[in-house]
Amino acid sequence: NFERMGQQQHLATIGQIAASIAHDIRNPLTSIQGFIQLIEKNEQKNEQSNSYHNYFQIIRSEITRIDTLLREVLMLSKSHTADSDSWSIIHLDGLLERLVLLMDPDALKSNIQIRLHLNHAPVVRGSEDKLQQVFMNLLRNAIEAISENGRIDIILKETDGLAIIHFQDTGSGIDETSQDHLFTPFFTTKGEGTGLGLSICQSIIKAYDGEIKVRNLPEKGAEFTVILPI
Ligand code: ADP
Ligand code: MG
Repeated sequence: NFERMGQQQHLATIGQIAASIAHDIRNPLTSIQGFIQLIEKNEQKNEQSNSYHNYFQIIRSEITRIDTLLREVLMLSKSHTADSDSWSIIHLDGLLERLVLLMDPDALKSNIQIRLHLNHAPVVRGSEDKLQQVFMNLLRNAIEAISENGRIDIILKETDGLAIIHFQDTGSGIDETSQDHLFTPFFTTKGEGTGLGLSICQSIIKAYDGEIKVRNLPEKGAEFTVILPI
């Protein structure tokens, strides 16, 4: 009986998630459909409208939205398995250095400086792809929270058999009402957000027996901390 109840609850959760995904796909689909109808109408009237360019741009970006959502949903469904086949030895300092190189152009566009503080060089075991995914999500969120002009400090430390990575930003910080929901799938305060980034991060880090914590900084902005066993 108990087990049945668990399964029912599980189904209810899947139902909620499915409804949320369906909703997030339907919105861009509706807008794609609308713009295609507009183009069709113009074609019938033989009006070669010069705003086609804008229509196509919107259609393309709506398709990208669906694609991003589906990619993240698939990622979330795979993230809870610590698939030890693809495990390797990961030097966190090197991984973070490569990541900053990768994200720097995006950050600099918004006048955001990323500073890397490599105080130690801890080594962990896991999938490099998945860890990179975690750090990239945290950096993206930090850039989005700052929006324009600011700084991100990434601090790598090692203590008592644990690797600790702090991501500190000078962004908006987290308001009290959001604090308890950050890691809930589909929770987002952004118009264009999927709300899956932090869920994916937490799910991956948990699979490595690690932990992810968040707090507001006393000065300004937020700090996300990833703790991983070495
Ligand atoms: P998304 O980025 O699609 O909104 P996430 O799961 O990555 O989804 O983040 C969930 C929410 O957590 C964000 O919408 C935002 O409100 C909050 N958040 C995440 N990172 C930060 C940060 N560095 N500073 C302030 N708020 C943040
Ligand atoms: Mg995000």
